[in-house]
Amino acid sequence: MEELRKDIQYIKGVGPRRSSQLRRLGIETVFDLLWHVPRAYFNRGNLHDIGDLKDGINANIRGIVLGTEARRSRRGLSLFKALIQDDSGMITAVWFNQPHLPGKINTGQEIFISGRVKASYGSMDIQVSEYEILEGEDLDFKVLPLYPLTEGLNQKYMRRLALIALNDYLGVYPEIFSREIRQQYGLCSIESALRSIHFPEDGPAYLQARKRLAFEELYLFQVSLRQEKDKGHNAAACIIHRAKGQLVARVEEDLPFSLTLAQRNALQEIFGDMEAAKPMNRLLQGDVGSGKTVVAALAMAKAVSSGYQAAIMAPTEILAEQHYQALQRFFRNTEVSIASLTGGTTAAERRMIMENIKNGNLDMLVGTHALIGEEVEFKSLGLAIIDEQHRFGVRQRALLGAKGMTPDVLVMSATPIPRTLALTAYGDLSLSVIDELPPGRKPIKTIHIKVAERIRAYSFILQEEEKGTQAYVVCPLVEESEKQDLQAAVSLYEELKREILPALSVGLVHGRMKAAEKEYIMTQFKAGAIKVLVSTTVIEVGVDVPNASIMVIEHAERFGLSQLHQLRGRVGRGSQQSYCLLIADPRTDEAWARIRAMERTNDGFQLAQEDMRIRGPGDFWGVRQHGLHLLKVADLIKDNRIIEMAHHLADRQTPADWEKIGFYIDQKFKKSAAIAPN
Ligand code: ADP
Ligand code: MG
Repeated sequence: MEELRKDIQYIKGVGPRRSSQLRRLGIETVFDLLWHVPRAYFNRGNLHDIGDLKDGINANIRGIVLGTEARRSRRGLSLFKALIQDDSGMITAVWFNQPHLPGKINTGQEIFISGRVKASYGSMDIQVSEYEILEGEDLDFKVLPLYPLTEGLNQKYMRRLALIALNDYLGVYPEIFSREIRQQYGLCSIESALRSIHFPEDGPAYLQARKRLAFEELYLFQVSLRQEKDKGHNAAACIIHRAKGQLVARVEEDLPFSLTLAQRNALQEIFGDMEAAKPMNRLLQGDVGSGKTVVAALAMAKAVSSGYQAAIMAPTEILAEQHYQALQRFFRNTEVSIASLTGGTTAAERRMIMENIKNGNLDMLVGTHALIGEEVEFKSLGLAIIDEQHRFGVRQRALLGAKGMTPDVLVMSATPIPRTLALTAYGDLSLSVIDELPPGRKPIKTIHIKVAERIRAYSFILQEEEKGTQAYVVCPLVEESEKQDLQAAVSLYEELKREILPALSVGLVHGRMKAAEKEYIMTQFKAGAIKVLVSTTVIEVGVDVPNASIMVIEHAERFGLSQLHQLRGRVGRGSQQSYCLLIADPRTDEAWARIRAMERTNDGFQLAQEDMRIRGPGDFWGVRQHGLHLLKVADLIKDNRIIEMAHHLADRQTPADWEKIGFYIDQKFKKSAAIAPN
């Protein structure tokens, strides 16, 4: 492994200049180079004649560029065309939205193109998905890799480098799976996998290589999670919840509604975990509005009636406050004592709360990050609940878990995480899903409104207000500047109050306000004294005001799909018809796709998949937060089966097995520094 950690600079053909270019691609060591896998391949054995192309097929062609043309479409998208000729004919190649192409592709060059053939207006063109300009002689492989590149590096150079790395270093690359394991899971050797991922003989060889490398990554990731988890935790000190008395039943009877079947099932699973002699590590997933809070409250009731304390942590102060109020409502006819600890809590209150948490006078604690940030010492924390998980990183979770004796942990999220992804991100996390909404909800109607007609959205609020409903107006985040963000919200607030809706009481809430101020505004809104609430995205997750039935989102094109869905989820919580009005002039195809998707469906899972389709896994599920972006080969959505297998193997092995590959895991996921040769 030492050899593999050698700094890239000391490899044949790489000097200081090259090495700084390579670093931009995240390649620092020989190891990184081997794992710099192609993003696509160019199969020279599989070329089509341009003269034979037919509408609708995917084709690979190779020809000479006869001329080029760059254009802008009416919607502001860039378009680049090149006329390509081979011995059999000519075709126009089309690139969409790649403004850097002019100057790069020039008349006279020989080019390889792969893409989809489309007939239109009697002629044919090919819509390019991959291309490569061919210069001089290249390696003599039938299938050539196309690598992710950066300024100054070309494919030919990257190929040579990959070949050097393979020839000189594969011999020292560790094989971590025995022959038996490889056989059992149908894996090829690491040596042949690395060789074939760069230079596959053919399709099957590539698939074999891919499978092995994806498995390897996912397995290492699993093991790293387990090691992490094992560090702070002492299995012997885990908590068994044995409820005494009738607290859970009493709280449930006191609810103004009866639980849905899905809520009931989730609760059974949670109770099962809490009663077991093993720390709970469960994700409760339910679309916005599905009623996760009450499930959390009943789990907390069980913890308290078993003689332990329970804590719930929310990502924002408004949410913490809301949970606090909800808990007080749920437990109003009981003896349970509840406190809330946020950034806004005064020093004196804080001291008292800390004291009572420590001596056991307090049963339940609600809070924001403040809850884990400081020296909160529980007398006996039995259950820790984390709401809206995607806001928190794994580390914070671990911290909260470390406070008691190894409390049971329940994570709640509205973001639909596919089971396999949850497995990957959390290791041995179990999953409960609330897959039905409380009865009587009407699907929210979502309507796109052009910016020029935005006044329509506000006339609509005015008109609906007569029926007694309330509205949110959300003003988008200006990425780089919290200040501008604030200004935008303030001026929208002024505009609505003075000019557009002078007859209604308009309120404003934003992230820079003091906790008490926010709380006051939210209380006013809940009570109906404020009819229209303007806000920055602080209300993005979790706020529950059932009487609010209109959600207006200004500049909706600036939000991601998951955010839009979260925001929309603030309405549609009562029995009246709700509306989501998206004010937007989308300028890109992606922005259009998001607005269309929102109009089309209310289903969070479908939207998540749509989002994946539009922009790849990206940060949608907190992929980066969990370090999942470090996976180079594995595909978190498509590789379901491989994820399950890797999980299966990690489960079967012992910490001693994991120990042996610790160095490898460090290299793969923690990136310890490269070393110079001695
Ligand atoms: P989320 O899952 O988005 O956190 P909440 O817990 O805020 O959802 O619940 C949304 C609303 O639905 C709340 O007003 C809550 O009181 C209500 N609710 C929850 N469960 C039920 C149910 N079984 N029947 C009717 N209303 C319910
Ligand atoms: Mg919630």
